[in-house]
Amino acid sequence: MIRINDLHKRFGSNRVLRGVDLQVNRGEVVVILGPSGSGKSTLLRCINYLETFEEGNVFIEGKAIGRISAGGHSREMPQNELNAMRQEVGMVFQSFNLYPHMTVLQNITLAPTSLRGMHKEVAELLALELLRKVGLEEKANARPSSLSGGQKQRVAIARALAMKPKVMLFDEPTSALDPETVGEVLQVMRNLAQEGMTMIIVTHEMGFARDVADRVVVMDGGVILEEGVPSDIFTNPSHPRTQTFLSQVL
Ligand code: ATP
Ligand code: MG
Repeated sequence: MIRINDLHKRFGSNRVLRGVDLQVNRGEVVVILGPSGSGKSTLLRCINYLETFEEGNVFIEGKAIGRISAGGHSREMPQNELNAMRQEVGMVFQSFNLYPHMTVLQNITLAPTSLRGMHKEVAELLALELLRKVGLEEKANARPSSLSGGQKQRVAIARALAMKPKVMLFDEPTSALDPETVGEVLQVMRNLAQEGMTMIIVTHEMGFARDVADRVVVMDGGVILEEGVPSDIFTNPSHPRTQTFLSQVL
C-alpha cells in the first residue's frame, strides 16, 4: 500500500531523514515511536508530499507521489495529479485545524463536495454516518468552539474519513488533549483499525501501541533504528537507543 524507499530530507544543513525505508501493507497499523526531533512528523508529512524530499521515493499503491527520481534524474508531479493522490491519504494532526466559522457538518462535507464533486445531500448523509461512527451525531450543527478537545479530534477524524482515504496518518492525535478525553479518541482509532483501515500513527500512547499496532517502528536521528511486533519491541528491543527511549516513556 505504502512503500518508502531510501528517503532523504534536509532542512538547510539539518539532515532530518537519512535514508528511511518503510513498507506498510493494506490493513496494517504501524506505530512510529522515537524521541523528539527524530523525524517522525517529517516522515509522515513526506508521505502526502506536504514536505518535499531530496532523495528517495514514496509510493502509494505503486505510484510515486510528488516527485519521482530514478537514475539521478527527477521530475515534479503536476499539481492536479498531486492533489488527486493526496485525497487518498487522510491526515489527522495534534491540532485539529477545524474551520471555526463552519458547523461540524460543514467541516466534514467541505472537501467531499468541493474536491470530489460529491452532491451536498450525499455528502451530508455520509457526514452523518461518519459522525455516528465517531459518536458525535448529535453535534452535526454545533460549532467547533463548543466542543471539547476530544470531540474536536473525533470530528477531525470524521472529516478525514469523508474523503474515503486509502490510508490514514495520525501525528500525535491525542497529545494536545485533556487526559479525560484521550480515551475516546483512541477508541475511535481502535475501531478504525478493527475495520481494516491502513494506519500510520505517531503517538506516545504506549498502551495503545502495544494493543493495536501490528508493527512498531522506532526512529532516531532520521533513521529507523528497528521495527517489529509490539511484544518484541517493548519487551526485547535490540537497539540500546530503543531501550533508553522506552525506559523514558514506559
Ligand atoms: P516531536 O516528537 O518533537 O514531534 P519529530 O520526531 O516529529 O519530533 P520532526 O518534527 O520531524 O521531529 O523534526 C525533525 C527535525 O527537523 C528537527 O530537528 C526539527 O527542528 C526539524 N524541522 C522540522 N520541521 C522543520 C521546518 N519546517 N523547518 C526547519 N526545520 C524543521
Ligand atoms: Mg512530531
